[in-house]
Amino acid sequence: MAAVVVDGKAAAQRIRAEVRERVRLLREKGLIPCLGVILVGEDPASLSYVTAKAKALEEAGMTSRDLRLPADTGEDALLAHIAGLNRDPAVQGILVQLPLPSHIREDRVISAIDPRKDVDGFHPVSVGNLVLGKPGFVPCTPQGVAALLREMNVPIAGAHVVVVGRSNIVGKPLVNLLSRRDFNATVTLCHTGTRDLAAYTRQADILIAAAGKAGLITADMIREGAAVIDVGVNRVPDPAAKKGYRLKGDVDFEGAVERASVITPVPGGVGPMTIAMLLRNLAQAAEDWGAGGSKALGDKSPGDKSP
Ligand code: NAD
Repeated sequence: MAAVVVDGKAAAQRIRAEVRERVRLLREKGLIPCLGVILVGEDPASLSYVTAKAKALEEAGMTSRDLRLPADTGEDALLAHIAGLNRDPAVQGILVQLPLPSHIREDRVISAIDPRKDVDGFHPVSVGNLVLGKPGFVPCTPQGVAALLREMNVPIAGAHVVVVGRSNIVGKPLVNLLSRRDFNATVTLCHTGTRDLAAYTRQADILIAAAGKAGLITADMIREGAAVIDVGVNRVPDPAAKKGYRLKGDVDFEGAVERASVITPVPGGVGPMTIAMLLRNLAQAAEDWGAGGSKALGDKSPGDKSP
């Protein structure tokens, strides 16, 4: 039986409606959430992401402060812009669009963001909080994946989740998030050093592909009835397409749809959820700000101490 194809756009719309309501309450108190967005250079994909984010913010009743900097901007100049946004009380969230030009050290830039405004969840403090099971900002794509699984009523507790890809923005935070006690999955992380990838993917109740390799996951690598989440967004040349390329996921969709029970399409699956989660993180940052500082970071809970 063919899998249920997840409508990521519809799920994202539901989350965006919740965010709009939270923003309405904030605006009643005189606080309009604002995201400081820094884009260095003119990478077309980055430009289109930034434009999509600005549109989504506006629809949610939030605003953005866009800084478009030339590709030859120096690292120190960029750090000075971040310091300005850190100090600005009208800005509650900061997003530096990645990737940055190669002469700029990404880790230095991310570490310069005030963790209370780290709505991307990439700052080492946010990463630490995630690992410790403490409240804090969780990166948007992993949060979107978890929310989609919940939307689809896919049982996560006790399930074997196999994640393919160990990036700092998708794979690693997914492993940390889904192994936390509130999700309680058993998680296996596969990467380029994994011998016999298929031997692992075939054991997955939930298979999450985030490798950035079109068609890497074929039908024979999927356990019958598994839930398959395709994070990959790959441009594959297609002369018949208007833009000369088509977007494809990491999963061979046509084959996988016959084996999985639930599957996300590309586009229209995880992508829309990522933006929705950014809006949610900004609403959280603004609420915490309005409450006089970050609740998340001021939290004194002992963290997730589950054995
Ligand atoms: P990345 O290139 O930083 O990391 C990819 C990871 O996959 C690496 O850790 C590597 O070890 C692993 N990998 C690559 N080839 C492999 C193979 N053959 N076998 C096993 N592991 C392999 O990429 P990323 O930033 O994590 O993004 C991954 C994909 O997800 C990309 O296609 C990206 O465009 C997409 N993405 C989508 C969204 C979204 O919102 N939908 C958000 C972020 C990234």
